[in-house]
Parts: sequence; structure tokens; C-alpha cells
Amino acid sequence: MANLGNPQNTIDIIQKYGFRFQKKYGQNFLIDTHVLDKIVAAAGVTKEDLVLEIGPGIGTMTQYLAEAAREVIAVEIDKNLIPILEETLVGYDNVVIINDDILKVDIEKLAREKNGGRPIKVVANLPYYITTPIIMGLFESGVPLDNITIMVQKEVADRMQTGPGSKDYGALSLAVQYYARPEIVANVPPNCFIPRPNVGSAVIRLTRHPDPVVKVKDEKFMFALIRASFNQRRKTLVNGLGNAPELGVSKQQVTKALEDMGLPEMVRGEALTLGEFAGLSDLLKE
Ligand code: SAM
Repeated sequence: MANLGNPQNTIDIIQKYGFRFQKKYGQNFLIDTHVLDKIVAAAGVTKEDLVLEIGPGIGTMTQYLAEAAREVIAVEIDKNLIPILEETLVGYDNVVIINDDILKVDIEKLAREKNGGRPIKVVANLPYYITTPIIMGLFESGVPLDNITIMVQKEVADRMQTGPGSKDYGALSLAVQYYARPEIVANVPPNCFIPRPNVGSAVIRLTRHPDPVVKVKDEKFMFALIRASFNQRRKTLVNGLGNAPELGVSKQQVTKALEDMGLPEMVRGEALTLGEFAGLSDLLKE
């Protein structure tokens, strides 16, 4: 089967099957070989690896992954793509295609059965409409992970990578950085896809921390605190957290905790590091 990572071969296969792009599934297929090489290299895929690919589309990146990995499990929601994948991946005996919604697949079970519980790699040109649930689902599920190397909307990649003080800093930055070290490895313009998305894209690698970088007594409470802090971004923490019923803390308690931490009374959430959120969470839980 011809390499799909170019415009003509992609158009040919789409026409052959009369495939119609479904906007609701975020279908933008990669047609740039340099970008494809870069993603697979950034993920550091070797012949030891089990790779989970989310949304293989017509199988373009799947071909690259199958060359580099021991085994690839590709989960695709659109049933119209399955006959196409059967053709484009016919030459590979190390690819399993699952026709399902990635949010419904028991990935932990797959990793256990197919990789003996050793860390897997996740590589994907993600459907942008569900980027956050996919990433958070992977981290929170307890699936053993080496890294997640994904194409996302550029603005989302910036949010994942940034730290305190930036306008992009928020709940997503903190959640991602709690679990992993983010690095943007490439910026990708719209002309690298068919059809062209109307936003810029970026490839970001999230390398799972082997050990937690911050320790917190109640993880759930810390994330509730983080969400409440950024829900009302322009408010001081004392006002924002003191008014959030889901936390059950008073303004006085927040004032006291900030004072104990040596932070200014008027501080906003956007100024706090992950370590400071963990500290605040522990104090408010006491
Ligand atoms: N990997 C291909 C490529 O790079 O050319 C296609 C990437 S395209 C941006 C996203 C793919 O994810 C589409 O094939 C789409 O049908 C699929 N998809 C969308 N939602 C999904 C879901 N919930 N579960 C699994 N696949 C999904």
C-alpha cells in the first residue's frame, strides 16, 4: 500500500471509497511526511513498544507507527473508515483496529492484556472537540503511561505548557503538569491537513512523571480548589474560594491559609504554582 502521507494518495483513497468527512468527529487528515516523522520520533517509539493510536482516520500515521512499534492498537469511532483502514493497513500484521469511541474503551485492560501492565505510549492527531476529556481520562484512569505525544490545537498546547503569570495559565496547565512534563515539539500550520482546520495546531509530548512532583493529601480537593480558583479568574482567591459552595471553606479560612503560606491577601489563582496549590489544599483540608 502506498504511503498515505501526501495529498494525492490521501485524495485517491477518499475518492475510491466515496468517504465523506464528518465535522462532528474532528476529521482533519495529515498529509505532511515531515510532520509524521517528527511525531513518531518525538514519541520515541521502538520495537519494544505498544502504541495506542486514537483516531487513525485513513491510517496515515498508523502506517508510520506500525513500522516503528511492536504493536499498534488504533481506536476509530467512524465505522465508514474501517474498510479503508483494512485496505491501507493490509501489509501490517502488528495493527489491531477497534471500532469504538475512545472514551468508552477500557484502556487499562488493554495495557494489562497486551503489554503485561508495562507503560504504553499514546500517539494521536486528536479530534480537537474532545482533547481535554481524552487526556485527563488517560491520566486519571491509572493506565501505565510512558508518554502521550499528540497533535492538538495550538492554543491548547500553549495552555498545557505554560506557568504562573501567563494569560494561558489555568486549570488545564495545572492538571497536565501534575501528571506530566509538557514540551511542544512542533508547530503545524493548517495546510498540513485535508481538510484544513481553521486553527493552528501543535504537537506536544507529555512525559509522565515517574513519581509525583508535588505531594497533596487530597488530590480531588486540590483539583476542586484549582477549578474554583480559575472559574472566577479575576477575583482574589479569598473572594473566589470563600464563595465556592462546593469547597465548604470560609473567607477567613482562606485568608488565614494564605497568611500561613506567606502569600499576599489579594493574590489571585493565576499567580500560584502547582506546589502552592498543593500547600493551600493541605492547609484548607486541616
Ligand atoms: N490520525 C489521522 C491523521 O492524522 O490523518 C486522523 C486524525 S483526525 C484529526 C481525528 C480522528 O479521530 C478521525 O479519524 C475521527 O473519526 C476520530 N475520532 C473522533 N472522535 C473519536 C472518538 N471519540 N473515539 C475514537 N476516534 C475518534
